This record gives sequence, structure tokens and C-alpha cells, in this order.
Amino acid sequence: MISSPDTVLPTSSSLEFFTKDGLPLFRFSHLSKFAELEHAVFTRLGGVSKPPFDSLNVSYDTGDDASDIRENLRRVRELSDSPFLIYARQSHSSKIVSLDKYPSVNPTPHYPLQGVDGFITRLSGLLMMIKVADCQAIFLYDPNRRVAAIVHSGWRGSVQNIIGNAVHQMVAHFDCKPQDVISAIGPSLGPCCAEFRHWHRELPTSFSRFRLSENHFDFWAISRKQLQDAGVLRENIEVAELCTRCHPQIFYSYRGERQTGRFAATIGINV
Ligand SMILES: [Zn+2]
Repeated sequence: MISSPDTVLPTSSSLEFFTKDGLPLFRFSHLSKFAELEHAVFTRLGGVSKPPFDSLNVSYDTGDDASDIRENLRRVRELSDSPFLIYARQSHSSKIVSLDKYPSVNPTPHYPLQGVDGFITRLSGLLMMIKVADCQAIFLYDPNRRVAAIVHSGWRGSVQNIIGNAVHQMVAHFDCKPQDVISAIGPSLGPCCAEFRHWHRELPTSFSRFRLSENHFDFWAISRKQLQDAGVLRENIEVAELCTRCHPQIFYSYRGERQTGRFAATIGINV
């Protein structure tokens, strides 16, 4: 058992480690500068779920006990000033929802949104959550327009370029400028562990330049490229550079554990 998750942080990482109300969490230094914005990468620590879901599992799709998940979600939401916690049944799609009104029920009912893998809003008080175990949570924020977004991108999301779709929607619906967007790529499967034996049929040829060895790919670099292709400036992109599979004591890893939980990545504009 590790005593402090900050001991795993690589020197290159821009993540900062905090403990708030007993819950360990990470934050990105670029995004932390904006007082009107809150965001967090939670870990698997600090919840009530029992093995193999121990302990801060936030996904009902894992086979874990529903009352434990409810308590874990409560802990995530209570840490925030936002009254609403928004999440969806993720489906590795490229579908992103723009949230332009408040939910009618609070606490937000389970899975009010199906088959959604990203959210965008300019409303304050909506804490938007992506559930992660190896896939990437991508944080996006335009401080000029005060528009926040978060996206779930696994390899299927990468193939569909859900990242580009998110930036496009921020521009199209909220008049954001890509060069104003601050972005971060959360802890996820690193190049060390992103092995794709069937890459010939699963991945497009445009990903070939990100192939590091026979079957390993750098999806952090792929996401960075997709952000830059969408107009986000390189200096405005932070990468956690923390591999979930290499740190099973802190994060859930689907590849490493199969039956396991999902940790939370959240962003929202403060009330
Ligand atoms: Zn790894």
C-alpha cells in the first residue's frame, strides 16, 4: 500500500497532488490558475467499494454494489461547490452533449444520458464527470468564453477523433477560439502498456507514426496531435504522463485487472 500518490508523479508531469476532505486527487497546474474553474483527477482511494472495486468506484457498469457507488459519487460531489453532478453511460462514441440548462432533479439521476462520451457547458454549478480505467479524460477550458468541456477518449474515441469533435463544438456552439483553449490529458494507458496486437485492423494508418515498437502506440501523442490539429496550441496542452496500468495501487486499469472500477475525472465552472 502506498502512503501518498504524489510519490508516483514523474518529474515531467504537470500534475499536482492534493488531499481534500480525506480524498486524494490530482490537479493540472495550467487549469488550476483559473479561480472560476474547478477540476480534479480522483484516484481509486478514499471510497467504500470492496475488492476488486476498491475503493472509490464511480461506475454502475462494473458489477459493483450500487449503494457503495452511490456513496462514492456522493463523496465526489460533496467535494465540489457545484450542486449538480453530470455523467453518462459512456459508449466509446464521439457523441458530446452541450449542457445549456440545469437538470430538473437533484441529485442528478443515474445515467440521465446514454451513449454520451463528452460534455460542454458554460453554466456554472454543473460538475461534469468522466469515468476512467485506462481511457483518457481530456479536459478543455476556454477562459475567455468561460466554456468548460470534458471528453472520454479510449482508442475507439481516438479513432473517431472525439477530441477534434469537442473543440469543433466549442467553436461552433460557444464561439470559442481554439488558440484560447487550455487542455489536459489525464492519467491513462501509457506508451509502455498500450499494446495493440490487432492494430492492422483496429487503428487507421495515420496512427502508424505513433507506433513505438512492434505493437505499442503512444496515445498521449495521438491526443496531443488531435488537439493541435483542432487548433489548440502546443503550450496549452498538459499531459499527466501517468500510466494507469503501471500504477494499480492508485488508479483502476481495465487492461491490468479486467474486473475493476472506474475513477472520476471532473470539471466544472464554479457557482
Ligand atoms: Zn504503463
